[in-house]
Amino acid sequence: MSASSPTQVAVIGAGLAGAACSSQLALLGSSVTLFDMGGRGPGGRTSTRKQAGYQFDHGCQYIQPAEQGHLRGLFKQWQSEGALDEWRGTFGVLDRACGHWQADQGRTLLVGKPSMDSLVKHLAAQQGIQQRWAFKVQHLERLDDGRWLVHGTQRHPGDDPDEPKTEGPFNAVLLADILTCQSGVGAVEMGDEAAKQLLHPVGEAIKKSPCFSLMAALHVGSDAAGVSAASVSGCDALQWIACDSAKPGRERTDGMHCWVAVTSEAFARKAMSASGGQPDMDALSKQLLQKLREALRVINPDLTDDQLEAPFAAVQRWGSGFKAECHPEAYIWDPEGRIQPASSVQQPPRHQRPPEKSCVGHGNHETCRWL
Ligand SMILES: Cc1cc2nc3c(=O)[nH]c(=O)nc-3n(C[C@H](O)[C@H](O)[C@H](O)COP(=O)(O)OP(=O)(O)OC[C@H]3O[C@@H](n4cnc5c(N)ncnc54)[C@H](O)[C@@H]3O)c2cc1C
Repeated sequence: MSASSPTQVAVIGAGLAGAACSSQLALLGSSVTLFDMGGRGPGGRTSTRKQAGYQFDHGCQYIQPAEQGHLRGLFKQWQSEGALDEWRGTFGVLDRACGHWQADQGRTLLVGKPSMDSLVKHLAAQQGIQQRWAFKVQHLERLDDGRWLVHGTQRHPGDDPDEPKTEGPFNAVLLADILTCQSGVGAVEMGDEAAKQLLHPVGEAIKKSPCFSLMAALHVGSDAAGVSAASVSGCDALQWIACDSAKPGRERTDGMHCWVAVTSEAFARKAMSASGGQPDMDALSKQLLQKLREALRVINPDLTDDQLEAPFAAVQRWGSGFKAECHPEAYIWDPEGRIQPASSVQQPPRHQRPPEKSCVGHGNHETCRWL
């Protein structure tokens, strides 16, 4: 890669993985074009909903701090740039089966500031990255000289029809949403047999895990409730509750507090199959709000009905909130074809993972060396 002709890289998907890869590549001198089909810009599942004057991180809740290695350095850098901050609070595990609350003192988590999507927006705005939002990539064409053309459609606001568009050529392509490697709806057509053979098995190995996120504004905050966030076990509905307003940079002055509750996969599957895939979101919202209140009352039985009243509640459905199974090989790339899947799922299971590997921006290091 010479200074006069930077390597042109297409990164498809501006979630945390795609944005982190793009940022690293741009820092090393590549010229990156970052595509996302979302009209609201980057974020993916690291997203924040703003509605009715409230703000909720309704996707990714926090990032696990890294003890050492490359990721630790990255997190420190993002903290110094003001896009990531430490979240100190009262965390713990709530066992609903036996009604036991165990606070986990001294734990620190990392969150985007002032919202979870701020981190991705910050990374995607870096110099050297060209942003292409509302651009759905549909087809990768391999040219005779080995480079890639990216074909897709640009969505326009209003009723204007989608516009077919082509960008490139690119020296290399990173697919930063593994679902693009699967066959069927949402897949990107690979105009190259070798790439297809390499990537399709990776995509097919991934199992999607649905969930719902409840977003509720309550009168009670984390101090009075006695909890900032909790993993929930033994509950037929919830796996996680958190006071979003307790995260750094989200303080409110109106006396309201934003809470998020994430359901278990089993609950989401049951709700979907019982409703033929069309759950009544209002009914779901009421049901999950009740589960959140019950969970909070186990931690603090003195909470009153007034404190737990919710002037706002809504539910977000995540078809593939988590990817249940990871691909066993952490890093897969085709140096010949110069194409690589690079998202949060190609990593060994947590217990086999060396400390440096995390769901955030994994593969950056290897990709940058390779390019
Ligand atoms: C409710 C919930 C809570 C979670 N909590 C945590 C947590 O606390 N900690 C944690 O580490 N993880 C958590 N996760 C998981 C975490 O959010 C994901 O692992 C991570 O955000 C995935 O990042 P990614 O960049 O790989 O994919 P994504 O964020 O899914 O990004 C992929 C992007 O690719 C784009 N895209 C796809 N196809 C195309 C195409 N053809 N053309 C253009 N763009 C395309 C999509 O629009 C999307 O923006 C949670 C997830 C959910 C849903």
